[in-house]
Amino acid sequence: LTVAQNDFDFFYLVQQWPASYCGTKRSCCYPTTGKPAEDFSIHGLWPNRNDGSWPSNCDEGSSFDESEVSDLVKRMQQEWPSLACPSSDGVRFWSHEWEKHGTCSLLNEHQYFQTALDLKDKSNLLQVLKDAGIRPGKFYSLEKIKEAIQQGVGYTPFIECNVDQGGNRQLYQVYLCVDSSASDFIECPTFPHGRCGSEIEFPSFSSLHDEA
Ligand code: 5GP
Ligand code: 5GP
Ligand code: 5GP
Repeated sequence: LTVAQNDFDFFYLVQQWPASYCGTKRSCCYPTTGKPAEDFSIHGLWPNRNDGSWPSNCDEGSSFDESEVSDLVKRMQQEWPSLACPSSDGVRFWSHEWEKHGTCSLLNEHQYFQTALDLKDKSNLLQVLKDAGIRPGKFYSLEKIKEAIQQGVGYTPFIECNVDQGGNRQLYQVYLCVDSSASDFIECPTFPHGRCGSEIEFPSFSSLHDEA
């Protein structure tokens, strides 16, 4: 009998801000299942090592099987939509995340998606920011955003920025760390690289000029 060994130390739960994904030169395409809510959505739950490296595509034989998550699909459509072009129902994105990251997680497919959804709900990022007076449609200091999340979630996030059509840095993704058994948030052992600048935009969908 072979017991599967951890080839990673923790997870990043990565949540994206849809208006920032869409508000770049590349634009985006809304899901076939409907325009996304003005809320954070999941990008992925990524196994990671303390040295910053990560395993990927750990089981070439395991492809995403929608029937294993049929009870979660409604939630996945709402909380894990794909905004890439062309418009899709999400299955391609979920397959990509499962095959690249999920197969390294030591979770089965149902556990992988359910765990990510539950952790997203638990983080409650949009409410946490609102409680700190941070609302979509304005610029805020990066420090204020980080402090609000650290206060409200209890752990220090990593904020990734991208650049809008006018050249402004904007809040694109929030990384929170999760212990290797995917049971709760932890302080990050290692942060990704990259810098935002001190004042960043937290855009709203309505501030996008060309709606996709
Ligand atoms: P990008 O180059 O857009 O930052 O990342 C491309 C892809 O590489 C991501 O979608 C993700 O799959 C993977 N990736 C980037 N950074 C990390 C990281 O720090 N940890 C893990 N596990 N994957 C990452
Ligand atoms: P990663 O490899 O970085 O985990 O995932 C990014 C891949 O998923 C890219 O190939 C990207 O085109 C695809 N993708 C599909 N929908 C989305 C989306 O809504 N957001 C992001 N960030 N990537 C998406
Ligand atoms: P991937 O090929 O890994 O999907 O994506 C490479 C990079 O391009 C990722 O950072 C991904 O988020 C971005 N990307 C891919 N497709 C789209 C798209 O339709 N719209 C936007 N805004 N970015 C995209």
